[in-house]
Amino acid sequence: MAVSIREALDIIYQNTPVISTEILPIEACLGRIAAGECIAKFDLPRFDNSAMDGYAVKCSDAGSAVICDGTLYAGDTPAMSLEKGHTIKIMTGAPIPKGCEAIVPFEKVTIQNNRVLLPALIENNAHIRHMGEDIKSGVVYLHKGEKINAYSIAMLASQGVTHLEVRRKIKVSVFGTGDELRPHFEKITPHQLYNSNTPMFLARAQELGCEVRYVGNSGDSVDSLKQVIKSAMDADIILTSGGVSMGDKDFTKEAFRDLGMKTYFEQVDIKPGKPTTYGKIAECAVVNLPGNPLASMVNFEIFVRALIAKMSGSNAHYHGTMQTQIAHDYPMKGGRHSVYLGHFDGMSFAPLSRQLPGMVSPMYKANAMMIASPSLTFLQKGSTVKIIPIGWVLNKTQQEDIFTK
Ligand code: AMP
Ligand code: MG
Repeated sequence: MAVSIREALDIIYQNTPVISTEILPIEACLGRIAAGECIAKFDLPRFDNSAMDGYAVKCSDAGSAVICDGTLYAGDTPAMSLEKGHTIKIMTGAPIPKGCEAIVPFEKVTIQNNRVLLPALIENNAHIRHMGEDIKSGVVYLHKGEKINAYSIAMLASQGVTHLEVRRKIKVSVFGTGDELRPHFEKITPHQLYNSNTPMFLARAQELGCEVRYVGNSGDSVDSLKQVIKSAMDADIILTSGGVSMGDKDFTKEAFRDLGMKTYFEQVDIKPGKPTTYGKIAECAVVNLPGNPLASMVNFEIFVRALIAKMSGSNAHYHGTMQTQIAHDYPMKGGRHSVYLGHFDGMSFAPLSRQLPGMVSPMYKANAMMIASPSLTFLQKGSTVKIIPIGWVLNKTQQEDIFTK
């Protein structure tokens, strides 16, 4: 029996193990998921320091001409202290000397007879960066499950962290099934077909941070399938397309079952792509996607993306949606949860005019998809719709309602 999209996603979230970890230099952690939290070991800034090139002063000297006792540079140890009627020249990042109440920037003073004439008003603490105002010692500055980006690397470096425990890259093995298929680098006869699904999945899985392996193509026999499956088994995820519907030569599921796959679902109430199957051989997750290119792509975006996100250890593994308007009147068949590819231009979402399950060309034009509930048969121009981004990700830490009603 077919499970609903929501049930299928829940099954994936519940049964997919999180990948193991490794320790890497922070420079190699870009795009990885943090395996634990990072706690600040010291305050940032570590000491009060100047936010400007200027003069360290006392507020009560405002409006008077003071004597300059010397200069403090970034990196200096603050040996000097500041007396009333005096000032110390100070550079950005230099430690605030004892007794200093504010920094007056160079452009706010005039030099008169070797003295520094201060402005009439000086605010207490002006242009002083205080110890711990950026990161307080003891706070969690990177949470478990967060994706490492350039800015988390900046924080790690600012705390003197050299290595970090992160989740491993997920290994994905991909193959297509079908006697009619040939790889794109071979010659074909008029009734054969280039395998476009496998290169597509390999590319998309890489975009999603996985390590990928192309394991060739299987013919339409249980033996041929079993041979290819066996050579794919060192992966964390095996992805296949084709051979999962009702055809006389659709043996994909049988071959996987023969090799011990536990099936969690084998049909989803979704259009296109009903025969999508999810299972596991030991700890290796398996997704059998439909052969039709657009159907396989849609189901990859909904289910495989969720699987990769969950396995990656990300704390934001749920699909996030954006609410926008539909660009034009849009009639739909209804009856099933249906996925429509379209283009979001920042203002509205325009479903693609022709998108049939067997097509290839609509996929590259789409940057978002809408999942319409079964009761929905017409959307009037300007109606609010929920869209899920493709290629740019809007993942959430909480599961949300992803259907347009
Ligand atoms: P199947 O589910 O195996 O019956 O395949 C459904 C349709 O998708 C057929 O027209 C296949 O030729 C086509 N197809 C299957 N696998 C691929 C693939 N890897 N690349 C492109 N088309 C495919
Ligand atoms: Mg086939």
